[in-house]
Amino acid sequence: MTTIAFFGLGNMGGPMARRLLGAGHQLLGLDPSAAACAAFAAAGGLVASSGPQAVADAEVVISMLPAAQHVERLYLGDGVADGLLDHIDADALVIDCSTIGPHPARRLAERCQARGIDCLDAPVSGGTAGAEAGTLTFMVGGPAAALERAQPVLQAMGSQVFHAGAAGAGQAAKLCNNMLLGVLMAGTAEALQLGAAHGLDVAVLSQIISRSSGRNWALEVYNPWPGVMPTAPASRGYSGGFASALMLKDLGLAAEAALQSGTPTPLGELARNLYALHNAAGQGGRDFSSILELLRPPAA
Ligand code: NAD
Repeated sequence: MTTIAFFGLGNMGGPMARRLLGAGHQLLGLDPSAAACAAFAAAGGLVASSGPQAVADAEVVISMLPAAQHVERLYLGDGVADGLLDHIDADALVIDCSTIGPHPARRLAERCQARGIDCLDAPVSGGTAGAEAGTLTFMVGGPAAALERAQPVLQAMGSQVFHAGAAGAGQAAKLCNNMLLGVLMAGTAEALQLGAAHGLDVAVLSQIISRSSGRNWALEVYNPWPGVMPTAPASRGYSGGFASALMLKDLGLAAEAALQSGTPTPLGELARNLYALHNAAGQGGRDFSSILELLRPPAA
């Protein structure tokens, strides 16, 4: 049994924490959302009264927060409040699973290293269903020895753990994946809208494509058309899941990485612009598969 402090009990962190509880670990969790804390407590987690209290006896500290600014504020402080690094034991292991991009991940790793604390960037893929089922894919950046220490904890939440390279490499891999996911979701939504406009039953069209050369994860595991897949966010009004605002964040991080390396990513940029339009239309809180609605043909 490992004593774990878990920060960020939202759509992903909530079910990830439940997997760890189910594997017999002791968890102290914290989230500004009272509802998220209540769900965590109902699953057997202990809600901490403060960050320092959560990490006081923690062997492992895990964070699953929206974006880089949340992660930096949590660990490094904000000039007013202390960051967690002032309270984490040097023997503890920090694992940040949020998607924040390679540079913030490297900065955090350097600050941890300066205090003798092992740190990994370990962003995930697999969505909320993967988090519930414990089948996430972890893309890990950091020292191999730290990853070795992290394995029992990561394997309680995921079925695939890849060592992508040094600090920040997990984040770089995650950006490549999510840029492609944004492109695939927009392309899948466009194809399904085209089929529907030509009178096709979208459930049948989805079956056809899933056995043809256009098959992909967005279509087969996360179908954006309401009702085709009962477990997908599209079938519950695009609630929960992966917010369009977070997809826009990830496409922005991919665009930054592309600029830094001079890599052309025209399709990633197109997807970023589509998600920017979708967010500007007030859709940022809905699941990213709701991009289908942006691509709806005008009523005849
Ligand atoms: P979410 O908004 O549902 O959850 C984030 C949680 O962090 C919220 O409950 C928020 O209250 C909490 N939080 C914010 N600041 C905090 C702090 N200082 N201490 C403790 N908790 C704090 O977001 P999510 O969908 O769970 O995504 C989390 C991260 O995982 C993001 O970086 C996202 O890009 C990534 N991700 C999400 C998915 C997905 O399908 N949702 C998949 C892969 C990766």
